[in-house]
This record gives sequence, structure tokens and C-alpha cells, in this order.
Amino acid sequence: MHSSTAVEIQRRLDDLLDHLPAGVVVHGADGRIVSANKLACELLGQSPQQLKGIEASAAAWELVRSDGSPMPSEQFPVNVVLRTGSKISHLIVGIPGAPGTQPRWLICNAYPGFDAAGHLREAVVCFTDCTLLKRAKQRLQKSEQRLRLVLRGSTDAPWDNDLVSGEFYYSERWWHMLGYRPDELAPHAGLWLDLVHPDERPGIDAFMAALAAERRESYAIEFRLRHRDGHYVPVLSRGFVRRDSTGKPLRISGTNTDLSERKRAERHIYELAYFDQLTGLPNRRLLIEELDKTLARSHRSGRLGALVFLDLDNFKLINDTMGHAAGDALLRQVAGRLRQTLRQSDHLARLGGDEFVLVLEELGGSGEEAVREAGIVVDKLKLVLDQPYSLDGRPFVSTPSMGLVLFDGVSSDVDTLLRQADLAMYQAKAEGRNTARFFDPGMQASAERQASLERALREGLSAHEFVLYCQPQFSSSGALFGAEVLVRWRRADGVLLGPDQFIGLAEASGLIVPLGRHVLEESCRALARWRGDAALDKLKLAVNVSVQQLRSDAFPEQVARILHDTGAPPAQLCLELTESVFAENVAELIAHMHTLCGLGVQFSLDDFGTGYSSLAYLRRFPLAALKIDRSFVHDVHLDPAAAPIIEAIIALARGLRLDIVAEGVEHEAQRSFLVEGGCGALQGYLLGRPVPIADFERLYRDAGAVGA
Ligand code: C2E
Ligand code: CA
Ligand code: CA
Repeated sequence: MHSSTAVEIQRRLDDLLDHLPAGVVVHGADGRIVSANKLACELLGQSPQQLKGIEASAAAWELVRSDGSPMPSEQFPVNVVLRTGSKISHLIVGIPGAPGTQPRWLICNAYPGFDAAGHLREAVVCFTDCTLLKRAKQRLQKSEQRLRLVLRGSTDAPWDNDLVSGEFYYSERWWHMLGYRPDELAPHAGLWLDLVHPDERPGIDAFMAALAAERRESYAIEFRLRHRDGHYVPVLSRGFVRRDSTGKPLRISGTNTDLSERKRAERHIYELAYFDQLTGLPNRRLLIEELDKTLARSHRSGRLGALVFLDLDNFKLINDTMGHAAGDALLRQVAGRLRQTLRQSDHLARLGGDEFVLVLEELGGSGEEAVREAGIVVDKLKLVLDQPYSLDGRPFVSTPSMGLVLFDGVSSDVDTLLRQADLAMYQAKAEGRNTARFFDPGMQASAERQASLERALREGLSAHEFVLYCQPQFSSSGALFGAEVLVRWRRADGVLLGPDQFIGLAEASGLIVPLGRHVLEESCRALARWRGDAALDKLKLAVNVSVQQLRSDAFPEQVARILHDTGAPPAQLCLELTESVFAENVAELIAHMHTLCGLGVQFSLDDFGTGYSSLAYLRRFPLAALKIDRSFVHDVHLDPAAAPIIEAIIALARGLRLDIVAEGVEHEAQRSFLVEGGCGALQGYLLGRPVPIADFERLYRDAGAVGA
């Protein structure tokens, strides 16, 4: 009975062991396996017979640690228990499979068994398969690593909100973005809403309500969150919404991106695009956008305003003579004074260069009133701007010219107003500068005439309508030594225009450069043509050159090329400059002149005594001759004051070792005065009028032939 009960208990125990969802292996004190249940055999891939009697040594078993490295046999759970007599819990052990496959992972517990005398009798090792769990954990770790990598380059801060449980998760970055340590404030669903900028709360609430109702899966919204130090951080919040089958949101997860840097960049780009960097004033683009709104306001209110174009007089001269830094300093000071003088409601912009635009609003309900009010502002501006400026610590006076046009928001658009104010400003300049003019329609008509003349000039140039005339020049003894080339415009309709009718416009439009080049080429062609002709081949040609031509760095090279290509003798070419060269960057001009002198070309100074007459500069320019202006010659036998001027000019020229040419000699009395005074060369109607170059050649070839 007793033994049958023991057998019964053993049977039930074995039965229990075989149904246990864990492998159980019992080792004897010598380490050999005494028994193993069914699952143990399965997990270890052996039969109970095979297992029986096997010793837990490295020779019999190969195990790996949870990091994959081989486990020495003294660390096998059974050996640890037998050696130390204490138990082991939750140790992860791998059994390597075939090469190239993952190990099978077991989670092990092991404990010792003692006999009644307290001697270690056995060690029991229990284990369950955790391969799937371990793999899932590895996958999770990998995907976490990947996520960290993806997030590392960005500043995105993840967060997650479980709407069902109410749980809220804010990542470390989320806290850092707002200057907090993680979980420094108790994280709860409403936390971020508490930090939203108060102005944006209503918008966010509406947005969240719509999001719940709309069944959208993802969203992006920008708002500001309060930083720990009190300032607001602009963030872009992007999220995904998980919903149940009825569309009810269950969970929202997403990231916040810090937009501070981007906002700064956007502001910088905006400033670059809409503000002048030198003065900080709005630029043309912003002005035009604002003007549209101003006109609409004026239309609504029925009150007139004025657009003012303001341009500094002689600004170019300041830039050229005192340098660009001084020019910039002047512009900044002007901008500062304008800003201080205007009312808060007036607008101010810099269009570029020395051009400013002022927009005066609310000047009055009638034209007269607005004109009067604008006049008061203009007077105030002049008063302020005429005060000396400080440039490089020295006082400096600069005056403005202003053009005004009234607007009512209906009659004219922005473009027209800007053009009209610009025209009025040019009119102010033409009327002696340092003044202001209102636009009137007559200005428009004359500007349109100018524009069409400029078009015609351009066309005339390509149609070769510009022809050369020559006016002979004689020595005091009456010998022909050369001629001045004077250009004429023979238009398609047969009308012949003199230079006074188009040179000014050609200068203003820059067309003087191609026109001057044409004259120079034709002149050199004539000089080349005259070579070997006994009557003509010693003659010099004086060609008028605009300072715009001389200024160009390409000019010396261009002249050299023309001389080379035509074969004209350089020593017979004389270029006439006017005193406007003194108002330029003289060092540059002088350098160009020296290059040309090196080729043998000569220079003379035209209309001497009428322009800037800088005697100091006179010495520095490599000149061969001075031309006395015809106004002095004209008066010489009429006005007692004219004679001393001519005498003085002749004396000056002698002192500087320059030749003298007198032009505009019309009367015998003038000629004899000049010759007696020591003037070496003469030009004028008395001696010969300008004639077409072909006539000139014929006339003097024949005269030369007669003379020979
Ligand atoms: P300028 O260089 O002083 O030329 C002399 C001007 O005086 C010429 O007028 C000539 O016809 C005129 N003239 C000559 N003798 C007499 C005289 O005895 N009495 C009077 N009252 N006038 C006389 P024009 O041909 O009308 O030329 C006017 C200006 O046009 C020239 O003045 C010159 O500055 C400019 N010009 C002419 N051709 C050219 C050119 O090819 N290039 C440039 N840049 N300017 C030119
Ligand atoms: Ca001349
Ligand atoms: Ca002249």
C-alpha cells in the first residue's frame, strides 16, 4: 500500500512534469543529468535516453550569452548552482543552431536541492523558449536606433497622446525645445495647450475641434509655445490621427519642429527683398506695393496726397571726388533727416542711387489745399537738408531737387505717378537745382518728344544718317594745317540737323558713345585716304570726344584698333575734350589719355574758360593745345573786358607750353587782334565754314594744287 502510493505520486509528478510548459532538467551532484521532462528534450533536441548521464561541460554543450558571445562551461547555470549552492533567476542563454542561423533562446531559472543532512544533492534547471520575445526585442531596438538616427539630423521633437487612456508622452527634445528638463512640468494632455501663445489659443481650439470632426489622418499647423524663459518659440506641429471604425480619434502622435531659425531666415530674406541695405529704408518694391494701398485709401477718404521725388544735386561729383564711402555716409545722413522730418503717416523709400521718394497722405480735400500743404512740407525738407552734413569730420553742403505730383487715388496709377514725379524732378534740376517743381502736363509732352527723338536718333545711327563736316583751321600766317570734324544729322526726310539739336540728347541717353565711335572711325578713314595726297596728307583732324567715351576703360584700346585698322597716322589725330573732364574721376581719365599719347595722339581742351576751369588740374592733363571759346573771341572788338581775358589765356597757355587755337573768328578785327596777341591758330566763318568732308577734300586738294 505504502509503495503503491509512492509509485502513484511519482507517476503523477512525472505526468505533471511532462505537461509543464517549461523544460526541467535535474542534474546530480556530479553534474550528470538524472532526468529531463518532455519539453526539455524537445527544446534541447534530444531524446531522454540521449540526455541521461550527460555531464554539463563545454565538451557536451555549447551555449552562448545573451550578447551572442560563447559562454564558458563554469558559467552554465547548473555549474554555477552546484558550485555556489545558490539559485539563478531569469538568465538568458542561447543554444547555437546550424551555422548562419539565429540561436534558440532560453530563459533559465536554476536552484539547488539538498538532502536531510544538508548536502547538495542535485541541481534543477528550468527553462522556457523566449526566442520570439528576444527577436521582437531586437527588432524594437533596431527600429529605435533607426529612429534616433533619423531624428539626429533634425530638431523634430516627438510626442504622443493616447486619447483613450489620456496618457501623454513628451520626448526629451520636446522639453528641451522649450527649455525644460524632461517631465519638469507634470505631463498631461492640456500641458501644451497651456503653453500656446494666448493670441493663438482660439485658433488652436477651433483647429482641434475641426480635426476631431473631419476624419483627416494627418495635419500640420504652426503656432508659438512659451519657453521656460518667457519668450515664444515658433513651432510647426505635424501629427497623425488614429481613429476607430466610426472615425472617433483614438490617438494623436507627431513631432514639433522649432521654426525659430527658419523664421529668422524668412525675416532676413524679407528685409533683403523689401529694404534698402544702406539706409534701412523701404526699397522700390515695397514702395510700389504700399503705394497701391495708399491710392486706395486716398480714393476712399476723398483726401489728396502727394508723391515727391527727391534727388541730391551733384551727388555723382561727391562719389567721384570724395569716394563711395563718403557718398554712402551722405545718403545715410539724408535718410535720417528725412525720417525725422516726416510725419508718422508719411512714407519714405530709397529707389537707389541718390533718389528718394516721399509719399505724403491726407494733404487736403481740394487741389489748392493739397498744393499748399505739400509746399509747406517741401520748405521744411529743404530747410533740413540744406544744413551742412559732416563727411569725414568736415562740414559739407548738399542740396536736393524735388519733383511733386498730387494724387487722388483715381486719376493716375502708380507707374504714371512715379513717372510724372520723376519728370517734375528733372524739371527742377533743369531750372537750376536746389528747388522743387510740381508736375504739369506740358512736361509730359516734352518728355514724350524727347523719347521719340531718342528713338529716331537710335534708328538714324543704324541707318548711317550721321555725316561728317569739316571746318578748316589755319596758322596765324594763313596756312591751312587741319580741320575740326563736326557731325551733322542728315535725316531720311532730307532735313539737316546741327549738333546743338541732338548732342545733348545723345549725351543724356548714352548714344553719344556709338555716335562718337562712328565719327572717330570716319575721321580716321579720311586721314588714311589722304595719305600720299600732296595737298592733304599733312593735315590734322580735330575730333570732338565726349567725356563718356574717354571714361570707358575700353576707349584707348578702341582708338588704337581704329588707327590700326584704318591705317591713319596717329600724330595727325587730335581729340578735343571739354572742361567737363575736370568733374570726373580725373586720375582714370588722365591714365587713358597717357595711353593714347603713347600712340602719338594729341589732345586739346575745347571751349576753354566756360566750364569748371580748374587751373590746378590743367597742368596734370597731357594736353597739346587750348581752344579759346568763341564767346570771348566774339566780344573782343566790342567789349573792352574781353581783350584782357584772351591775353590772359594766351599767357597761361604759353606758360604751360600749350598751343592756342581761337575759334569763332568772324571778323577781320578779331583775327588781327588774335594774331597780334600771339595766337598761333585760327578757326571761324571768316576763314572757312564747316562743309561736308567730300567738299572739304575737293576744295583744298584743288586749292593745294593751285598753290603748288
Ligand atoms: P564746338 O566743338 O565748340 O564746335 C565749334 C562750333 O562752332 C561748331 O558748331 C561750328 O560750326 C561753330 N562755329 C565755327 N566757326 C564759327 C564762327 O565763326 N561763328 C560761330 N558763331 N560759330 C562758329 P556746331 O557744328 O554746331 O557744333 C556744336 C557743338 O557740337 C560743338 O561745339 C561740339 O561741342 C559738338 N559736336 C559737334 N560734333 C561733335 C562730335 O562729333 N562729337 C561730340 N561729342 N560733339 C560734337
Ligand atoms: Ca570742338
Ligand atoms: Ca569749341
